Amino acid sequence: MAVGLGGSFVRSEILLKLGALPKISFIGWLVMQGRLLTRERLKRMGITLDDSCVLCARAPETHDHLFFACEYSKRCLQIMSSKLGCHLPSQGWFAWWNSQIFPSQKIQRHAAMFLLGLIYSIWWSRNHCKTESVLLRPEYLIARFEKSSVFVM
Ligand SMILES: [Zn+2]
Repeated sequence: MAVGLGGSFVRSEILLKLGALPKISFIGWLVMQGRLLTRERLKRMGITLDDSCVLCARAPETHDHLFFACEYSKRCLQIMSSKLGCHLPSQGWFAWWNSQIFPSQKIQRHAAMFLLGLIYSIWWSRNHCKTESVLLRPEYLIARFEKSSVFVM
């Protein structure tokens, strides 16, 4: 199941072709296709019994939960929105993305890079938490995201 794409394949393609490094674009593509190996998917495959979210342990770790409903992800988006001085929806990023009319391609590109970077960062933090048993504070993750040079702008 794809994540909240709102039916705009073209917009999804734009999101993935705007210059992010391949690993970031690939994670974005997997999220849009609902194909990351979340705990919920691993449980359905019979690989694990525990499908709880690695970041909050309050819900099954589905794509929708991890990137759109998890309190950790919402906090990351809230911090980033505050830094950007704008209001971004706490749920349904892709529906928001698909509904936007950007005033220029440059702004559309920056919005796409922001979304891909945030998705990648949340997945990275989730994996870091899983392997190191340390949950990074959202403030630290966003600071790391801001300092990274993982994007080709
Ligand atoms: Zn969660």
